[in-house]
Amino acid sequence: MRKRIKIFLFIDALGWDIVSHYDFLAEQLPERRPVKMQFGYSCSAIPTILTGLSPSEHGHLGLFQFAPGRSPFFKLRKLDKILRPKSFWRRGRVRHWLSKLIKRLYGFTGYFQLYQMPFEKLGLMDYVEKRDIFAAGGLAPALNLRDILEDSELKYHISDWRRSDEYNINAACKALESGCEFLFVYTAGLDALRHRSGVEAPEIANMLEWYRKRVEILLETAERCGEVDFTVLSDHGMTPLAGTVDIKKIIESGGLRFGHDYGACYDSTMARFYYLTGAAEERIPELLKPYEYAGRWLTEAEERQYGIYREDRIFGDAIFLLNPGVQLVPSDLSLTAFNGMHGFAPEDVHSRAAILSNRRIPDNVVEVADYFGYMKSSIEVLKKA
Ligand SMILES: [Zn+2]
Repeated sequence: MRKRIKIFLFIDALGWDIVSHYDFLAEQLPERRPVKMQFGYSCSAIPTILTGLSPSEHGHLGLFQFAPGRSPFFKLRKLDKILRPKSFWRRGRVRHWLSKLIKRLYGFTGYFQLYQMPFEKLGLMDYVEKRDIFAAGGLAPALNLRDILEDSELKYHISDWRRSDEYNINAACKALESGCEFLFVYTAGLDALRHRSGVEAPEIANMLEWYRKRVEILLETAERCGEVDFTVLSDHGMTPLAGTVDIKKIIESGGLRFGHDYGACYDSTMARFYYLTGAAEERIPELLKPYEYAGRWLTEAEERQYGIYREDRIFGDAIFLLNPGVQLVPSDLSLTAFNGMHGFAPEDVHSRAAILSNRRIPDNVVEVADYFGYMKSSIEVLKKA
C-alpha cells in the first residue's frame, strides 16, 4: 500500500470572493466551500487555527492590550520625548527597524511590530504575540498543532512563518522528498497584495496563477512519494474600502485623559475601550453617538457568539466595531487607509474564508475554528496507517 500524505496549505486572505470569481484551482481541488471567518485579525485567526480554540480561550484578540500593570514597555515611554522629530519616527521603515531592535532587546520570538503605536501609550500596553505561536508550547497552556504532531511521532513539516512564500513552498517540497507525511505550509503574500488591490486587479489574477503553479508542483512532488490529500485553507477575505472615520480624534477631543480616565486600542476596524472612571464610561458612548452610522457597539451576546467574551475584560470593556468597509484612520496600526481590510463582522460577504480540497471535506468544517479538528483527525488517520 502506498504511503498516505496530508498537506494543508494556508493562504492568508484567500477569501471565498476570489476563489469563486477566479474558479481558483477548480480542477485540482474540486471540493470547496466558504468558511465563516474568526472575529478579529489574522493574529486571532492563526492561534484559532493552531489550537481550535476561540480568542476568549487562547487570549489573542488584537496585537495590543491596554494593560498598564502588565506592560513590558514601561521604560520605553520616555522615548517619546527623545525621538524627535515625531514625523521621522512615525515612518513605516523606521518603525519596522525599531520593532526589530525592540524584539531583540526583549527576546520576543513571536511576530512583533510596533506599527504606529506611540511610545507614550506603548508604556501602558501589553503585546500579545510575544512568543512564537507555531513553536512547541507557543500557545500554552493550550496544545497547538506542533505539540500534537510532536506527540504523534509522525514525520511532519510546519513552515517558518518568517520566510517568503517561495521559500516555504520549496521547503515543503524538500520535506516531502525527505519523507514527511503531514505538512502545514504557511503563505501570507496574498494578504499584503489584497490590502493594496481590489478583487479584480490584474495583480490578483497574477498572484493566484503563481499559487496555482506552486500547488501543482507540491501535488506532483507529493504524488511521487505517496497518496495525497491536499487541502487549501484561509482565514478571511478582504472588504473593499468604503470610507474612513477618525475615532481617535473624536475621543481625544472629548476632554478625557488617556491612561487616567480610559485606555483604548485603535485597530483598523474597531476601537476597544477600557473604562477607568465612571465619567469615561458615560462620555465615550456619548462622543460616538453621532458616528453610529459608521459602526456599532457589540453586545455581550455578540461577544459570546464571536468567541471574544471574557470576564476579565482584557480585550476591552466595550468594542465599537465599524461597518464593513469603513476603516479607522489613523489607527494604532496605520496612518492611512488601505484599499482592502479585514476584521469586520464575520457575517459580511467579503469576510468569508475558503477551504478547497481534492478529497471530500467533512460536513462539520464550517468556520475557521473547525480547521484544527480536521487536521487533528487527519493526524489520527496517519497514525493508524
Ligand atoms: Zn491582512
